[in-house]
Amino acid sequence: MSLIVQKYGGTSVATPELIKRTALRIISMKKKGHDVVVVVSAMGDTTDQLFNLATKITDRPSGRELDMLVSSGERIAMALLSMAINSMGFAAISFTGSQSGIVTDTVHTKARIKDIRSHRVQEELNKGKIVVIAGFQGVSPEHEVTTLGRGGSDTTAVALAYALGAERCEILTDVDGIYTADPRIVPRARKLDVISYDEMLELASSGARVLHTRSVEMAKQCKVLLHVRSSFNQNPGTIVKEEEKQMEELLVRGIAYDDSEAKVTIREVPDRPGVAAKIFGALAQANINVDMIIQNVSDSGTTDMSFTVPESELLQALGSIEKLKNEMEFKDVVADNDIAKVSVVGLGMRSHSGVAAQMFQALAEKGINIEMISTSEIKISCVVRKSEVEDAVKALHKTFELE
Ligand code: ASP
Ligand code: MG
Repeated sequence: MSLIVQKYGGTSVATPELIKRTALRIISMKKKGHDVVVVVSAMGDTTDQLFNLATKITDRPSGRELDMLVSSGERIAMALLSMAINSMGFAAISFTGSQSGIVTDTVHTKARIKDIRSHRVQEELNKGKIVVIAGFQGVSPEHEVTTLGRGGSDTTAVALAYALGAERCEILTDVDGIYTADPRIVPRARKLDVISYDEMLELASSGARVLHTRSVEMAKQCKVLLHVRSSFNQNPGTIVKEEEKQMEELLVRGIAYDDSEAKVTIREVPDRPGVAAKIFGALAQANINVDMIIQNVSDSGTTDMSFTVPESELLQALGSIEKLKNEMEFKDVVADNDIAKVSVVGLGMRSHSGVAAQMFQALAEKGINIEMISTSEIKISCVVRKSEVEDAVKALHKTFELE
């Protein structure tokens, strides 16, 4: 019998009625003869509310206590979902991340999965039960509860699919799949039938919010087939899998944008060996995710250095840089919150030139100024003013004929 891992997002379990509907969908999979493991997110916007609640107490909660707090959202959802399945006459059992054997490192609020000891899950599957698992959380070797970062339930699902040898991992959500661009901005965006891991990885890390970036990383590494689809209908969604030859025919597969980053500029940094190592070493030490980096030409022995970080890590980043001030003698640090990044992604870029020029041209025609540029083999990203990013997405979607 084949095993399917299904992950349901918060919108699929937002109310008791939706939990019951989701239970029916899970049961129909079981009735088809599959073993089923379900990974569930917290109900609706519970996680946001919990984070919010913490800010009412203190603006500097410890990571440990935050994890204790926010991991409770998934615990509520898993128990209710399991109850619903049981009440419909099918055997189910719920487990926390820790009970499912999801072992992580100790970096609270963004822990990484290190090991999966899934024997307990397997035992329950062997008894014919549907196993419902709290997403987004794990346990450190010191037995502390950890969480995997916002959206981390996807990663829980992929990790379990791999550990249990599932046939596929279904990500059930409130959209029909992966689109060529955010349909709320580009109404004529198209749903993609398939996408390669690498393209999905670039889109996810460029702001496409459908999948947690680390879940795609892990799916690629562990060759877990993903099917992203709606939990509100039976339509086939988007398959995320290894690339095939014909996938390269398309120049650009999709456009993503991210307005949740901020730009930090350190002005008049001494231009000598070891300076970048020191700055980015300090940021890495503080576990801050740096994205784009730009260093300007050196003028009279000093240079300006800009980089982007998640807005939520901005204060921490500024703190880490300020601490270097004594030993590094730069002029000052300025933060800019009003930026956004727009990215075009496609495997076809590997074998075609001119994509960057076409992108810059389209932005220029809209009078949109580019502040930073970065490229990878299959992606080009530009930082622009936040207020212009929606226009940028629309223009690029059109230029690359994705409608
Ligand atoms: N509930 C968590 C969040 O809102 C994890 C998830 O939904 O994947 O980020
Ligand atoms: Mg999500």
